[in-house]
Amino acid sequence: MALEDYRRKRRFDVTSEPAGDAAGRKRTGRALRYVIQKHRASHLHYDFRLEWNGVLLSWAVPKGPSISPSVKRLATQVEDHPIDYADFEGVIPKGEYGGGTVMVWDKGTWTPEVPDVDQALRRGELKFTLRGRKLKGSWVLVRTRGLGRGRPSWLLIKHRDAYAGDADITLAEPLSAVSGRTLAEIARDEGGDVALAATGDP
Ligand code: MN
Repeated sequence: MALEDYRRKRRFDVTSEPAGDAAGRKRTGRALRYVIQKHRASHLHYDFRLEWNGVLLSWAVPKGPSISPSVKRLATQVEDHPIDYADFEGVIPKGEYGGGTVMVWDKGTWTPEVPDVDQALRRGELKFTLRGRKLKGSWVLVRTRGLGRGRPSWLLIKHRDAYAGDADITLAEPLSAVSGRTLAEIARDEGGDVALAATGDP
């Protein structure tokens, strides 16, 4: 796990995304960070990220999370991101990698429900608890045999618990967890494409 792929795809003199520290940043004595960034790029998707080993493990979830245990959401694993990325809300310039508007849709901490996270990742089944503003309780990521654009495909699934439900959480809770803004408002404030960003708002 390292940030070479992340850095290779971006021009940090053009985008305001963080470059991250040289080798990633392992932090001790603090809860592990969790964030979901709603990203209106060429396609709307939700970037699901879990802090582990000094980076944010990252999955792109086209439809976003579902709190219904009967719904499995495709989650394509993408390159690790710097931990600082969890605070990024704004606009990636048009023409740059991931160009579009980014919202911090949910943030909080996570706890593994397995004794060995690295082993769970290798085996393709990671159970964990989320403590976010919007998503809470027990979840699982399960790797499938498929690949999407050559990247490992996983499924993000809610476990049945007190935080499960039938509501469409992406429609019920569409605003930024840190600023209360819509995607269109973020684009307006940060000089992005407001009309394009608005297509990601309900
Ligand atoms: Mn993205």
